[in-house]
Amino acid sequence: MTTANDILKKIKDEGIKYVDLRFTDPRGKLQHVTFDQTMIDEDIFEEGTMFDGSSIEGFVRIEESDMYLKPDLGTFRVLPWPDASGARVGAITCDIANPDGTPFAGCPRTALKRAIARAAALDFRMVASLEAEFFLFQRRDGSPTTLTHDTAGYFDLAPVDQGEDVRREIVLALEQMGFLVEAAHHEVAPGQHEVDFRDDDVLATADNVSTFRFVVKNVALRNGLHATFMPKPIYGINGSGMHTHMSLFEGDTNAFHETGNPFGLSKVAQGFIAGLLHHAPALTAITNQLVNSYKRLIAGYEAPTYITWARNNRSALVRVPVTKHGKQSSTRIEYRATDPACNPYLAFSVILAAGLAGIEGDYHLEEEADSNIFELSEEERRAKGIRLLPSSLADALDQMETSELVRDALGAHIHEWFLRNKRAEWMDYKSQVTQFELERYLPNI
Ligand code: GLU
Ligand code: MG
Repeated sequence: MTTANDILKKIKDEGIKYVDLRFTDPRGKLQHVTFDQTMIDEDIFEEGTMFDGSSIEGFVRIEESDMYLKPDLGTFRVLPWPDASGARVGAITCDIANPDGTPFAGCPRTALKRAIARAAALDFRMVASLEAEFFLFQRRDGSPTTLTHDTAGYFDLAPVDQGEDVRREIVLALEQMGFLVEAAHHEVAPGQHEVDFRDDDVLATADNVSTFRFVVKNVALRNGLHATFMPKPIYGINGSGMHTHMSLFEGDTNAFHETGNPFGLSKVAQGFIAGLLHHAPALTAITNQLVNSYKRLIAGYEAPTYITWARNNRSALVRVPVTKHGKQSSTRIEYRATDPACNPYLAFSVILAAGLAGIEGDYHLEEEADSNIFELSEEERRAKGIRLLPSSLADALDQMETSELVRDALGAHIHEWFLRNKRAEWMDYKSQVTQFELERYLPNI
């Protein structure tokens, strides 16, 4: 257990000049306020500090604007780089509280903690790891372009893979910030990369996503590049996913594993998968929250479109990776819809809620999908009862709006804000006249 005094000692010993209090807003955007080390005392860490929540997207109205940032003491880290003046900077992750100290209903991290508590009431602890993909693009005149900086493909090496040094710098910076990377490699598309996180408790993994995006963007910029987590930046090639691997533990035992069952999947794991599949349409607005997210979720680019599960079939929504020889009890499942632009706290909240609903409700798990699912006609698929993921943000919001499970997991405050905010995004998009329309219609119609 880290105490406020441990952190104060570290600040002194390591000559840290500034401390960032960081939190994630409902959009998934990392925000911070910086304190000079002379202003930092035990109180800030233990009691928190007041800030004006009315200016933060998705928080509160002007008339109730005072809120508290409550640092989570175990999350203090030293940033890998000094600031422009050479000063060292520390950062700590915070929850948002009301002035009376109660958790604030609009805090996404608090929503995930609620889901974790629900799992704990059933004696489960969720462990998650990620495969986070992103693009590195060139910058021109200070602005990002969609020109990739290499023409490499999956697992390529330098010098074809021009991102190797940048990736290595990213991994080093991440490790300096205290989280362990399993692997990093070039992805299928030119300029596309992936960093794989190691297993950790789901809250730490969500915190790591914010740190990861911060590190990747900054390292890219230091190398004159622009990093993006936009799910589908370029038409006609793969987009970027953030596949989420997970299992539930009961104490030290992996509750997803049962020797002798088909694929090693326990009853708990089967219920969890069935829950995910059943609620998938309602979760999708959260796991894929941008207009652009739905340009990734189309056939032909290794991203899921059908609500199916399978062992080792990369077109399925839920995949059960083959366990390593000798590590059969490491059974886990992979949810492949999630993209790297999501709010990880909200995404993991709804994923966990759906899985738990499947376990508690004893949902039945249908047969694993055939690998030839893409060869079936629309009618054949319908006859087999295979459902599709929502095809647009508007469609996903309709599915989410009526889901009690999602409303419960997010809480009414975030649920309502999210729908309002995202409907506005959709309306903005819908009213645009796009290049596609001009090219297709203007000459002929
Ligand atoms: N980039 C693909 C996606 O959009 C995934 C590729 C892979 O299987 O790693 O989900
Ligand atoms: Mg990948």
